[in-house]
Amino acid sequence: MYQALVIDKNEAGYGASIKTLDEDNLPEGDVTVRVDYSTINYKDGLAITGKSPVVRKFPLVAGIDFAGTVESSSHAAWKAGDKVVLNGWGVGETHSGGLAQRARVRGDWLVALPAGLTTRQAMAIGTAGYTAMLCVMALQGHGLKPDSCDILVTGANGGVGSVAVALLSKLGFRVIASTGRVNEAEALKALGAAEVIDRAELSSPGKPLAKERWAGVVDSVGSHTLANACAGTRYRGAVAACGLAQGMDFPGSVAPFILRGITLYGIDSVMAPKALREQAWARLAQDLDLRKLDSLVHEIPLAGAIAAGADILAGKVRGRLVVNVNA
Ligand code: NDP
Repeated sequence: MYQALVIDKNEAGYGASIKTLDEDNLPEGDVTVRVDYSTINYKDGLAITGKSPVVRKFPLVAGIDFAGTVESSSHAAWKAGDKVVLNGWGVGETHSGGLAQRARVRGDWLVALPAGLTTRQAMAIGTAGYTAMLCVMALQGHGLKPDSCDILVTGANGGVGSVAVALLSKLGFRVIASTGRVNEAEALKALGAAEVIDRAELSSPGKPLAKERWAGVVDSVGSHTLANACAGTRYRGAVAACGLAQGMDFPGSVAPFILRGITLYGIDSVMAPKALREQAWARLAQDLDLRKLDSLVHEIPLAGAIAAGADILAGKVRGRLVVNVNA
């Protein structure tokens, strides 16, 4: 028997509740995992509240990520006792997920917990932090180097944003953090931001081209913020777009692309190939200051995950919410 946060949709409506499940409720898969920790990402908030159609099969255990220990495996790559991490692949959307004490998935979806990280630290990073790393890798792959580069991070107090600030500053980039919570500026500076700007500067309709202020951008916000971030990107700079916290629209202009030669990278963590995931997790173990990561974490029990889903959508969460599924 195990506890899980189950999403159901029936004649009574859409709802999330903590349920006790048994072996028969585990989905198909060749690896069964004892979950230590999961997290609340923005997408989990959408799934738990039903605000967007993230969950597409009912009933389903929520949770797009988890870290834990393999209990049993018929997959050649994994054996009992292995420490593993899972992000995405439709888990928590169409396949029962990580907000549970046990999970069963395809072994091909798992990544080995990198040396130097605990399962709790892996979920302090979570899908948000792993996505931040994918964004950073895209900007570095573009050729951006710390020496002369300012990087804008939007949604800086959120999960993707705060890990991006910590990563980029450790790599030596000068980080401009955009946030709606300017009262949290000191925390962002402690994380590594050199400058904190009010997100209101970027969130309304702007000009097709603005003053060139940054060479790169990590954007988890979308909409006008993304359009303005592109408009303010330096000649031949790059923008990594991964999120839609402000909106899914992109009300921009081609001007930054055709007049300044900027590049827009789309970042998807869900179906990212395994080699890229392994690279991202290895880089996270190497490039993230774990004391800074610790400062971002708030731990909650599984029972607290339902309220936390609404809180993250309301912008009430700073940093990362780690769910101790066994508490
Ligand atoms: P969080 O809620 O932790 O962070 C989002 C942040 O965006 C907030 O903290 C807030 O930052 C800012 N924000 C919220 N609402 C608005 C608004 N109306 N206008 C401007 N800024 C706003 O979420 P996550 O970090 O978990 O995820 C961020 C985004 O990235 C989500 O859209 C998520 O779906 C997406 N994502 C995409 C992935 C992918 O594979 N492409 C993977 C992971 C996440 P502040 O308070 O600092 O202003």
